Amino acid sequence: MFLRLVNRIAATVFVAIVSLASALTAAEPAPIAIALHGGAGTITRTAITSEQDAAYREILSSAIDYGHTRLLAGADGLDVVVEVIQIMERSPLFNAGIGAVMTWEGKHELDASIMTGANLDAGAVAGVTTIASPIAAARAVMEHSPHVMLSGAGAEVFARDQGLELVDNATFTTERRKNALEKYKSKVAARLTPDKDYKYGTVGVVVLDANGDLAAGTSTGGMTGKRWGRIGDAPIIGAGTYANNASCAVSATGHGEFFIRYHVAGDICSRMQYQGISLTQAADTVINGELARVGGEGGVVAVDVRGNVAMPFNSEGMYRASIDATGHKTVAIYGIDD
Ligand code: ASP
Repeated sequence: MFLRLVNRIAATVFVAIVSLASALTAAEPAPIAIALHGGAGTITRTAITSEQDAAYREILSSAIDYGHTRLLAGADGLDVVVEVIQIMERSPLFNAGIGAVMTWEGKHELDASIMTGANLDAGAVAGVTTIASPIAAARAVMEHSPHVMLSGAGAEVFARDQGLELVDNATFTTERRKNALEKYKSKVAARLTPDKDYKYGTVGVVVLDANGDLAAGTSTGGMTGKRWGRIGDAPIIGAGTYANNASCAVSATGHGEFFIRYHVAGDICSRMQYQGISLTQAADTVINGELARVGGEGGVVAVDVRGNVAMPFNSEGMYRASIDATGHKTVAIYGIDD
Protein backbone atom coordinates (compact mmCIF):
# COMPACT_ATOMS: atom_id res chain seq x y z
CA MET A 1 0.00 0.00 0.00
CA PHE A 2 2.71 2.41 1.06
CA LEU A 3 4.86 1.42 -1.97
CA ARG A 4 1.96 1.99 -4.34
CA LEU A 5 1.45 5.49 -2.93
CA VAL A 6 5.15 6.30 -3.34
CA ASN A 7 5.02 5.04 -6.94
CA ARG A 8 2.01 7.17 -7.73
CA ILE A 9 3.62 10.29 -6.28
CA ALA A 10 6.82 9.58 -8.21
CA ALA A 11 4.84 9.14 -11.44
CA THR A 12 2.93 12.39 -10.87
CA VAL A 13 6.15 14.32 -10.17
CA PHE A 14 7.73 12.83 -13.30
CA VAL A 15 4.80 13.87 -15.50
CA ALA A 16 4.86 17.35 -13.98
CA ILE A 17 8.59 17.72 -14.66
CA VAL A 18 8.25 16.48 -18.25
CA SER A 19 5.39 18.83 -19.05
CA LEU A 20 7.16 21.77 -17.41
CA ALA A 21 10.31 21.03 -19.40
CA SER A 22 8.40 20.82 -22.69
CA ALA A 23 6.47 24.00 -21.87
CA LEU A 24 9.74 25.78 -21.20
CA THR A 25 11.40 24.58 -24.41
CA ALA A 26 8.28 25.38 -26.46
CA ALA A 27 8.06 28.96 -25.10
CA GLU A 28 9.61 31.57 -27.36
CA PRO A 29 12.34 33.55 -25.62
CA ALA A 30 11.15 37.08 -24.85
CA PRO A 31 12.23 39.49 -27.61
CA ILE A 32 15.00 41.95 -26.77
CA ALA A 33 16.44 44.76 -28.86
CA ILE A 34 18.80 47.72 -28.57
CA ALA A 35 19.78 50.68 -30.73
CA LEU A 36 22.17 53.57 -30.08
CA HIS A 37 23.37 56.75 -31.76
CA GLY A 38 26.47 58.89 -31.34
CA GLY A 39 25.20 61.99 -33.10
CA ALA A 40 24.07 63.05 -36.57
CA GLY A 41 25.42 65.65 -38.97
CA THR A 42 27.58 66.30 -42.01
CA ILE A 43 29.34 62.99 -41.54
CA THR A 44 30.63 61.87 -44.94
CA ARG A 45 33.37 59.50 -46.08
CA THR A 46 35.48 62.48 -47.14
CA ALA A 47 35.00 64.36 -43.87
CA ILE A 48 36.42 61.48 -41.79
CA THR A 49 39.80 59.74 -41.97
CA SER A 50 39.88 55.95 -42.21
CA GLU A 51 41.38 55.85 -38.69
CA GLN A 52 38.50 57.91 -37.32
CA ASP A 53 36.04 55.74 -39.22
CA ALA A 54 37.55 52.60 -37.66
CA ALA A 55 37.65 54.11 -34.16
CA TYR A 56 33.98 55.08 -34.32
CA ARG A 57 32.92 51.68 -35.66
CA GLU A 58 34.85 49.89 -32.97
CA ILE A 59 33.22 51.71 -30.09
CA LEU A 60 29.74 51.61 -31.68
CA SER A 61 30.14 47.86 -32.18
CA SER A 62 31.50 47.07 -28.73
CA ALA A 63 28.90 49.29 -27.01
CA ILE A 64 25.99 47.61 -28.83
CA ASP A 65 27.41 44.13 -28.13
CA TYR A 66 27.83 44.98 -24.46
CA GLY A 67 24.23 46.21 -24.18
CA HIS A 68 22.85 43.22 -26.06
CA THR A 69 24.74 40.74 -23.89
CA ARG A 70 23.36 42.41 -20.77
CA LEU A 71 19.80 42.25 -22.15
CA LEU A 72 20.26 38.57 -23.06
CA ALA A 73 21.28 37.93 -19.46
CA GLY A 74 17.99 39.50 -18.35
CA ALA A 75 19.34 42.88 -17.21
CA ASP A 76 16.88 45.68 -16.52
CA GLY A 77 16.49 48.02 -19.52
CA LEU A 78 17.23 51.14 -17.47
CA ASP A 79 20.53 49.66 -16.26
CA VAL A 80 21.47 48.89 -19.86
CA VAL A 81 20.58 52.39 -21.08
CA VAL A 82 22.73 53.97 -18.35
CA GLU A 83 25.68 51.59 -18.77
CA VAL A 84 25.84 51.88 -22.57
CA ILE A 85 25.50 55.68 -22.46
CA GLN A 86 28.29 55.78 -19.87
CA ILE A 87 30.59 53.93 -22.30
CA MET A 88 30.02 56.81 -24.73
CA GLU A 89 30.15 59.54 -22.07
CA ARG A 90 33.63 58.31 -21.20
CA SER A 91 34.78 58.27 -24.84
CA PRO A 92 36.29 61.52 -26.19
CA LEU A 93 34.79 60.69 -29.60
CA PHE A 94 31.30 61.82 -28.62
CA ASN A 95 29.70 65.06 -27.54
CA ALA A 96 28.74 63.81 -24.07
CA GLY A 97 30.77 63.70 -20.85
CA ILE A 98 34.46 63.66 -21.83
CA GLY A 99 34.64 65.18 -25.31
CA ALA A 100 31.57 67.39 -24.82
CA VAL A 101 31.46 70.57 -26.89
CA MET A 102 32.28 73.95 -25.34
CA THR A 103 30.07 76.91 -24.55
CA TRP A 104 30.90 80.45 -25.74
CA GLU A 105 32.80 80.91 -22.48
CA GLY A 106 34.92 77.80 -23.07
CA LYS A 107 33.13 75.64 -20.48
CA HIS A 108 30.94 72.56 -20.64
CA GLU A 109 27.24 72.52 -19.77
CA LEU A 110 25.79 69.04 -20.01
CA ASP A 111 22.20 67.84 -20.53
CA ALA A 112 20.73 64.34 -20.15
CA SER A 113 17.43 62.52 -19.68
CA ILE A 114 16.06 59.02 -19.20
CA MET A 115 12.57 57.48 -19.34
CA THR A 116 11.00 54.09 -18.75
CA GLY A 117 8.07 52.92 -20.88
CA ALA A 118 6.70 50.71 -18.09
CA ASN A 119 5.14 53.54 -16.09
CA LEU A 120 6.32 56.74 -17.85
CA ASP A 121 8.72 57.63 -15.04
CA ALA A 122 11.38 60.06 -16.24
CA GLY A 123 14.33 62.12 -15.01
CA ALA A 124 16.58 64.80 -16.48
CA VAL A 125 19.39 67.22 -15.71
CA ALA A 126 20.17 70.37 -17.69
CA GLY A 127 23.13 72.73 -17.78
CA VAL A 128 25.22 70.74 -15.29
CA THR A 129 28.95 71.39 -15.16
CA THR A 130 30.61 69.01 -12.69
CA ILE A 131 28.58 65.78 -12.78
CA ALA A 132 30.82 63.05 -14.22
CA SER A 133 27.90 61.06 -15.64
CA PRO A 134 24.86 63.21 -16.49
CA ILE A 135 22.82 60.11 -17.46
CA ALA A 136 23.39 58.63 -13.98
CA ALA A 137 22.22 61.93 -12.51
CA ALA A 138 19.10 61.88 -14.72
CA ARG A 139 18.28 58.43 -13.40
CA ALA A 140 18.83 59.58 -9.82
CA VAL A 141 16.39 62.48 -10.40
CA MET A 142 13.84 59.95 -11.66
CA GLU A 143 14.29 57.51 -8.81
CA HIS A 144 15.23 59.65 -5.81
CA SER A 145 13.55 63.03 -6.24
CA PRO A 146 9.91 64.07 -6.56
CA HIS A 147 10.81 65.98 -9.76
CA VAL A 148 11.46 65.22 -13.43
CA MET A 149 14.07 67.86 -14.36
CA LEU A 150 16.74 69.58 -12.26
CA SER A 151 19.08 72.24 -13.63
CA GLY A 152 22.36 74.04 -12.92
CA ALA A 153 23.67 74.47 -9.38
CA GLY A 154 20.66 72.79 -7.76
CA ALA A 155 21.17 69.66 -9.83
CA GLU A 156 24.83 69.57 -8.74
CA VAL A 157 23.84 69.76 -5.06
CA PHE A 158 21.35 66.95 -5.61
CA ALA A 159 23.99 64.83 -7.40
CA ARG A 160 26.44 65.38 -4.55
CA ASP A 161 23.80 64.39 -1.97
CA GLN A 162 23.14 61.25 -4.02
CA GLY A 163 26.81 60.34 -3.80
CA LEU A 164 27.39 60.70 -7.55
CA GLU A 165 30.89 61.41 -8.82
CA LEU A 166 31.70 65.11 -9.30
CA VAL A 167 34.67 66.28 -11.37
CA ASP A 168 36.30 69.52 -12.44
CA ASN A 169 34.66 71.00 -15.53
CA ALA A 170 38.00 70.80 -17.39
CA THR A 171 37.82 66.98 -17.16
CA PHE A 172 35.45 67.08 -20.14
CA THR A 173 37.79 69.19 -22.34
CA THR A 174 39.53 67.87 -25.45
CA GLU A 175 41.73 69.65 -28.02
CA ARG A 176 39.25 68.85 -30.76
CA ARG A 177 36.43 70.73 -29.02
CA LYS A 178 38.73 73.67 -28.17
CA ASN A 179 39.59 74.00 -31.86
CA ALA A 180 35.92 73.70 -32.81
CA LEU A 181 35.05 76.57 -30.46
CA GLU A 182 37.83 78.76 -31.88
CA LYS A 183 36.69 78.07 -35.41
CA TYR A 184 33.09 78.79 -34.45
CA LYS A 185 34.02 82.09 -32.81
CA SER A 186 36.13 83.25 -35.73
CA LYS A 187 33.26 82.55 -38.14
CA VAL A 188 30.83 84.44 -35.92
CA ALA A 189 33.33 87.37 -35.68
CA ALA A 190 33.67 87.38 -39.48
CA ARG A 191 29.88 87.27 -39.80
CA LEU A 192 30.10 83.94 -41.63
CA THR A 193 27.76 80.99 -41.12
CA PRO A 194 29.46 78.46 -38.82
CA ASP A 195 29.80 74.86 -40.05
CA LYS A 196 26.58 73.00 -39.47
CA ASP A 197 28.35 70.41 -37.37
CA TYR A 198 29.04 72.85 -34.56
CA LYS A 199 25.92 71.48 -32.97
CA TYR A 200 26.10 67.71 -33.22
CA GLY A 201 27.47 64.57 -31.49
CA THR A 202 24.96 63.65 -28.79
CA VAL A 203 24.66 60.03 -27.61
CA GLY A 204 21.50 58.04 -26.99
CA VAL A 205 20.30 54.49 -26.34
CA VAL A 206 16.90 52.77 -26.62
CA VAL A 207 16.14 49.21 -25.45
CA LEU A 208 13.46 46.56 -25.17
CA ASP A 209 14.36 44.35 -22.21
CA ALA A 210 13.38 40.74 -21.52
CA ASN A 211 10.52 41.89 -19.26
CA GLY A 212 8.94 43.59 -22.28
CA ASP A 213 9.77 47.08 -20.97
CA LEU A 214 11.03 49.89 -23.19
CA ALA A 215 13.54 52.52 -22.00
CA ALA A 216 15.32 55.46 -23.61
CA GLY A 217 18.14 57.82 -22.60
CA THR A 218 20.09 60.70 -24.14
CA SER A 219 23.21 62.60 -23.01
CA THR A 220 24.94 65.60 -24.60
CA GLY A 221 27.15 68.64 -24.30
CA GLY A 222 24.68 70.49 -26.54
CA MET A 223 25.94 72.89 -29.23
CA THR A 224 29.39 74.43 -29.65
CA GLY A 225 29.40 78.11 -28.69
CA LYS A 226 26.01 77.97 -26.96
CA ARG A 227 25.29 80.95 -24.69
CA TRP A 228 22.96 82.33 -22.09
CA GLY A 229 22.29 78.96 -20.47
CA ARG A 230 20.88 77.46 -23.67
CA ILE A 231 19.20 74.08 -23.11
CA GLY A 232 18.65 71.71 -26.03
CA ASP A 233 16.20 68.91 -26.68
CA ALA A 234 18.22 66.12 -25.03
CA PRO A 235 16.99 66.69 -21.44
CA ILE A 236 13.42 67.48 -22.53
CA ILE A 237 11.07 64.52 -22.20
CA GLY A 238 9.05 64.29 -25.41
CA ALA A 239 11.62 66.22 -27.46
CA GLY A 240 14.94 64.34 -27.25
CA THR A 241 13.80 61.29 -25.26
CA TYR A 242 10.56 59.35 -24.86
CA ALA A 243 9.49 55.82 -23.89
CA ASN A 244 6.04 54.28 -23.54
CA ASN A 245 5.31 50.54 -23.56
CA ALA A 246 2.13 51.37 -25.50
CA SER A 247 4.20 52.51 -28.48
CA CYS A 248 7.97 52.89 -28.58
CA ALA A 249 11.22 54.28 -27.11
CA VAL A 250 13.06 57.09 -28.91
CA SER A 251 16.33 59.00 -28.48
CA ALA A 252 17.06 61.94 -30.79
CA THR A 253 20.08 63.84 -32.07
CA GLY A 254 20.25 66.92 -34.23
CA HIS A 255 19.36 70.59 -34.20
CA GLY A 256 17.74 70.72 -30.77
CA GLU A 257 15.64 73.82 -31.34
CA PHE A 258 13.67 71.97 -34.05
CA PHE A 259 13.39 68.80 -31.97
CA ILE A 260 11.90 70.82 -29.11
CA ARG A 261 9.40 72.66 -31.30
CA TYR A 262 8.31 69.48 -33.09
CA HIS A 263 8.44 67.39 -29.86
CA VAL A 264 10.01 64.74 -32.04
CA ALA A 265 10.44 61.76 -29.71
CA GLY A 266 6.91 62.04 -28.28
CA ASP A 267 5.39 62.66 -31.71
CA ILE A 268 6.84 59.42 -33.12
CA CYS A 269 5.38 57.42 -30.22
CA SER A 270 1.99 59.19 -30.45
CA ARG A 271 1.72 58.54 -34.19
CA MET A 272 2.32 54.84 -33.59
CA GLN A 273 -0.20 54.70 -30.77
CA TYR A 274 -3.02 56.76 -32.28
CA GLN A 275 -2.61 56.08 -35.98
CA GLY A 276 -1.78 52.39 -35.58
CA ILE A 277 1.17 52.71 -37.95
CA SER A 278 4.51 50.89 -37.71
CA LEU A 279 7.56 52.21 -35.92
CA THR A 280 9.39 52.67 -39.23
CA GLN A 281 6.49 54.61 -40.75
CA ALA A 282 6.09 56.87 -37.71
CA ALA A 283 9.81 57.61 -37.35
CA ASP A 284 10.27 58.20 -41.09
CA THR A 285 7.28 60.53 -41.33
CA VAL A 286 8.59 62.72 -38.53
CA ILE A 287 12.29 62.76 -39.49
CA ASN A 288 12.14 62.69 -43.29
CA GLY A 289 8.74 64.39 -43.57
CA GLU A 290 7.89 66.94 -40.89
CA LEU A 291 11.44 67.83 -39.84
CA ALA A 292 13.12 67.69 -43.25
CA ARG A 293 10.41 70.00 -44.66
CA VAL A 294 11.36 72.76 -42.22
CA GLY A 295 15.12 72.19 -42.27
CA GLY A 296 15.34 70.48 -38.88
CA GLU A 297 18.43 68.38 -39.30
CA GLY A 298 19.08 65.17 -37.37
CA GLY A 299 17.75 61.71 -36.65
CA VAL A 300 16.55 59.25 -34.04
CA VAL A 301 17.04 55.68 -32.88
CA ALA A 302 13.82 53.94 -31.89
CA VAL A 303 12.59 50.51 -30.79
CA ASP A 304 9.09 49.08 -30.24
CA VAL A 305 7.70 46.35 -27.97
CA ARG A 306 8.19 43.70 -30.64
CA GLY A 307 11.87 44.55 -30.91
CA ASN A 308 11.66 46.31 -34.28
CA VAL A 309 14.30 48.99 -34.71
CA ALA A 310 14.17 52.22 -36.79
CA MET A 311 17.08 54.65 -37.19
CA PRO A 312 16.05 57.32 -39.73
CA PHE A 313 18.04 60.56 -40.19
CA ASN A 314 17.85 63.42 -42.66
CA SER A 315 21.47 64.55 -42.26
CA GLU A 316 24.31 63.09 -44.29
CA GLY A 317 25.28 60.65 -41.58
CA MET A 318 24.51 59.44 -38.09
CA TYR A 319 26.77 57.29 -35.92
CA ARG A 320 24.53 54.37 -35.08
CA ALA A 321 24.31 50.69 -34.17
CA SER A 322 21.53 48.23 -33.38
CA ILE A 323 20.65 44.62 -32.69
CA ASP A 324 16.95 43.89 -33.27
CA ALA A 325 14.74 41.07 -31.96
CA THR A 326 15.90 38.72 -34.75
CA GLY A 327 19.52 39.23 -33.66
CA HIS A 328 20.37 41.26 -36.78
CA LYS A 329 23.25 43.64 -36.02
CA THR A 330 23.97 46.96 -37.75
CA VAL A 331 26.91 49.33 -37.26
CA ALA A 332 26.87 52.32 -39.60
CA ILE A 333 27.97 55.92 -40.01
CA TYR A 334 26.98 57.28 -43.42
CA GLY A 335 23.86 56.99 -45.61
CA ILE A 336 21.51 54.03 -45.55
CA ASP A 337 23.73 52.10 -48.00
CA ASP A 338 26.61 52.21 -45.48
N1 ASP B 1 20.36 67.74 -29.97
C1 ASP B 1 21.52 68.29 -29.32
C2 ASP B 1 21.23 69.69 -28.89
O1 ASP B 1 20.60 70.43 -29.63
C3 ASP B 1 22.72 68.29 -30.19
C4 ASP B 1 23.03 66.97 -30.84
O2 ASP B 1 22.17 66.14 -31.01
O3 ASP B 1 24.19 66.75 -31.17
O4 ASP B 1 21.69 70.07 -27.84
